[in-house]
Amino acid sequence: MSGRLAGKSAIITGAGSGIGRATAMLFAREGARLVLGDLTPAVHDTAKAITADAGTASAVQMNAGLEDDVRKLVESARMMHGGVDIAYANAGISGGLTGLFEHSVDDWQQILQVNLIGPFLLIKHAAPEIIKKGSGSIICTASVAGIRSGAGCPAYSASKAGVINLVQTAAQQLSGTGVRVNAICPGLIETGMTERAFEYAREKGVEDRIGRLNPLRRAGQPEEIAHMALFLASDEASYVNGQAIAVDGGLSSSHPVTRQEMGKTAA
Ligand code: NAD
Repeated sequence: MSGRLAGKSAIITGAGSGIGRATAMLFAREGARLVLGDLTPAVHDTAKAITADAGTASAVQMNAGLEDDVRKLVESARMMHGGVDIAYANAGISGGLTGLFEHSVDDWQQILQVNLIGPFLLIKHAAPEIIKKGSGSIICTASVAGIRSGAGCPAYSASKAGVINLVQTAAQQLSGTGVRVNAICPGLIETGMTERAFEYAREKGVEDRIGRLNPLRRAGQPEEIAHMALFLASDEASYVNGQAIAVDGGLSSSHPVTRQEMGKTAA
């Protein structure tokens, strides 16, 4: 088997859709052997698409926010592929557009359970397996929403800010083990999570306004996040550790100021 992840054993959560599915397809093409988790049965479709393409993947319907489920997911990878080299905590929920004063404690608990406790659990259970291999990579999907406010509901933003801190802390606590831990902070990406916004814009004929706030002036595709995940998972990122890397078309590179354009000042 050839490829940038040849022979590596990888776990990906949230692999039934969007970024997780695109990453699973890419990792498989690069030679990884996968155990995929998702709350929905769509994860089986991802695994089938990979095996149909001569890749190696099995699917587990599970809840990434529940410790028993995460423990079993890691155990499956260990049993099937003789250990774990890469773990990608990607499953997440948006919590809609609820404002701070409309949020209930239940909303917060639900969002934190999946988006923040989920990555904590995967790090907790996958890291000891990766340590046995001598080196490896843990990746978490955070968000530009975790860098500053304005890109999601308050509980979502707080959960993603927590993920950024979690990877920093985990990288430190795994000092000397050879395990790297990093986060990806996507900007606006067209996935199941954002589907309704894209559909709405298309219905209204204002699709070209989506993603206009970043200097590339477009939304991203899940494959563009998958390529960052591939880099972080591979040995090419052997000195990248404890970082939260934005993949957002440049959205987070500026405060909201009037845009300067080549040769003129934009209105
Ligand atoms: P998506 O809805 O297409 O995919 C998310 C997947 O996670 C789904 O298949 C869903 O079933 C699964 N999932 C949800 N809760 C789960 C749970 N408890 N256990 C297991 N699986 C669960 O959305 P996406 O955009 O691909 O989301 C992937 C990650 O990217 C999320 O963490 C999300 O917060 C993050 N993100 C997305 C965007 C964006 O614009 N789409 C931007 C920044 C960050």
